[in-house]
Amino acid sequence: MFYEPDVFDNNPRICKTPKAGEKVVRIENGPGKRPYIAGGDSKRWYWNTDFKAEPGEIYLLPHELAGGEQSKGKILIEPYVKDTSYSQNKEWPHWKEFVRLAKKTEIGDKLIQFDYESKEKLVQGVKTKKFRSALINLANVDMVITVDGALHHAAAAMNIPCVTLWGGLINPLILGYENQVNIWHDVESCGSKGKCSHCHEAMRNITPEEVLNAALALRRAQVDQATQNALNG
Ligand SMILES: [Zn+2]
Repeated sequence: MFYEPDVFDNNPRICKTPKAGEKVVRIENGPGKRPYIAGGDSKRWYWNTDFKAEPGEIYLLPHELAGGEQSKGKILIEPYVKDTSYSQNKEWPHWKEFVRLAKKTEIGDKLIQFDYESKEKLVQGVKTKKFRSALINLANVDMVITVDGALHHAAAAMNIPCVTLWGGLINPLILGYENQVNIWHDVESCGSKGKCSHCHEAMRNITPEEVLNAALALRRAQVDQATQNALNG
């Protein structure tokens, strides 16, 4: 998924340039070698239903984190998916309506998104040059709302509260995390590599209200917690 090796910077468990005689374990996890894929053909993947994602590890240094100040206290939404047909099976068609409804609530002025030059900005944009600078902004936000993908994995690794939307491609029992709010209607996971109407329907069936309610519940729990912490000194 990541062709940007600096996502592993400062990770004490990762060795980028092994020296002669040094003990290292090589882990192959990339396209064609994913532990959650049991098999597949040209049309679909078969998921390894015994696999359960565990949060990864991302190490950002204090001076790096300071570079994401602009995102402090914000709520990051990711309305866009990659251009591949299977990624588009995860596209949620209700982002605009979600933003319209959210703007009437207490989270309305907190919404941000990454700025992609070619794509419409639904809320305030944040420019990021590389995935690591996206991570630095992610580390500063109070919440992320996204479909499953790089961001929900990164949020899990950094313990950033995340509302993750799941349709029909794969499901949170395999790639989800218990410390996230997973919105999934128990749809069968088809693993389709091509454009799939079942997947598109599954995403369409997740309503803007449902996502907004999840985000508001999470937000209110955060505010309560902050108030509690302040009272406890
Ligand atoms: Zn499908």
